[in-house]
Amino acid sequence: MEKILNYVNGAWQEPRSGMYLDNYDPSIGSVYSLIPDSDANDVSEAVTAALDAFPDWSAMPVERRSAVLQRIADLIDRDIDLLARAESIDNGKPLSLARSLDIPRASANLRFFATGALHFSSEAHTTGTDAVNYTLRTPLGVAGCISPWNLPLYLFTWKVAPALAAGCTVVAKPSELSPMTAYIFSKLCIEAGLPRGVLNIVHGIGPKAGQAIVEHPEVIAISFTGGTVTGKKIATTAAPMFKKLSLELGGKNPNIIFADCDLERALDISLQSSFSNQGEICLCGSRILVEKSLYNQFVEAFVAGTKKLKVGDPLEEGTDIGALISENHLNKVSGYIDLARQEGGQILTGGKRVIVKGRCAHGYFLEPTVIVGLDSECRTNQEEIFGPVVTIMPFDTEMDAVHFSNSTSYGLSASLWTENLKRAHRVSAQIKSGIIWVNCWLFRDLRTPFGGMKQSGLGREGGWEALKFFTDVKNVCVRL
Ligand code: NAD
Repeated sequence: MEKILNYVNGAWQEPRSGMYLDNYDPSIGSVYSLIPDSDANDVSEAVTAALDAFPDWSAMPVERRSAVLQRIADLIDRDIDLLARAESIDNGKPLSLARSLDIPRASANLRFFATGALHFSSEAHTTGTDAVNYTLRTPLGVAGCISPWNLPLYLFTWKVAPALAAGCTVVAKPSELSPMTAYIFSKLCIEAGLPRGVLNIVHGIGPKAGQAIVEHPEVIAISFTGGTVTGKKIATTAAPMFKKLSLELGGKNPNIIFADCDLERALDISLQSSFSNQGEICLCGSRILVEKSLYNQFVEAFVAGTKKLKVGDPLEEGTDIGALISENHLNKVSGYIDLARQEGGQILTGGKRVIVKGRCAHGYFLEPTVIVGLDSECRTNQEEIFGPVVTIMPFDTEMDAVHFSNSTSYGLSASLWTENLKRAHRVSAQIKSGIIWVNCWLFRDLRTPFGGMKQSGLGREGGWEALKFFTDVKNVCVRL
């Protein structure tokens, strides 16, 4: 069985303990590879390698750093089929989605930050004729990057690329539930000639390997994407050590449909925003709010559209919904469907596990599920489910729509559908979410600030924000 290995100081290595974890293919429900069960010893070696590599990497002309990162991006593009297949098997997502979204975005992340770093500049402030102040930004040292399982290589590179482009060296940990593409990425780093120790990838579980990265005193900054509960734990450890923190956490995103919307488009994109990647995208709209006069028509058409989605073998052409990431997660999501029933919800379609014929008979598949009849305060409408499950609720007025949207402890993203321009601006300004999509969803410009409000996170990634995050900042005041 294939063994994934850690990537430390430019070479692959076994975990020092010799211990491995099972890695499941969720579409068949069995183990297909092994993952290092790394601990603080492996992390400590990785940090030492990153510290040793830091002086040369941070002092290297940015053009050279950029060139290496762009070479890695080229290799990702070259190996797109291999990576997409590996990610689909590792994660359960449709191969078509891995090929069209995840892997292209991984190389785009590298190119974006590699070229962005070439144009990065600092501010200067002249104080009349008395002084010149300038802002000096320098790479901050060893950064820790910890990523989740849902968009594995996409989010791994979203963190690692700006850190490396800014001149930091990195100790990274991908999720133990989908580590394969990060392992393949380490092969591409070697092939591209990334100097040893610049990036170190330590595989393993969060409370052991992840926690060791967060606790290590030489890791100056932590860039984390994952669940809100884990984010709290990381903040609890890192805050007293005064580490720089970027936390991208969970969401319970509203998708607001006004009666004056372009209904056909709103329906089409809402099906995507509800069920893409089995609903396992932090930005999925899990609460659909529909203006009362359109409610019945919308619900009927949305349910009809949901019933047409094909749940099946992720490797097969034409599959819309693949397997959930794990049996545990399948049980968690199914538990929320049971809760919705207990809370008085009516399941209009879905709600049951799917047994896919053939090689995927033991995979973790669930029908896309649409629930109505719940109020905005119930647990089903308050807690992140992170699966192919949406609720639909009617609203009377624009004020109600804003109120329902803001009624959870999360504030990651929101979509709204209206042809009324003034309303679009007005409502966008009132919704407490870090990203608002008007008449679209998941349309991303990597220059824009990305991140959540409230319990959806802390800090902003993307664009200059990400490059700035990985630098120390000082003001130099020169008296003239
Ligand atoms: P998770 O919090 O369980 O794990 C995320 C990562 O943190 C994994 O690599 C895990 O091993 C590690 N980890 C766990 N405990 C740790 C600890 N004590 N110290 C250090 N590291 C630790 O999240 P998940 O289940 O992998 O991902 C799903 C969650 O991620 C959802 O809540 C989703 O909304 C969120 N998410 C957010 C964004 C965003 O950009 N805001 C993007 C994707 C996913």
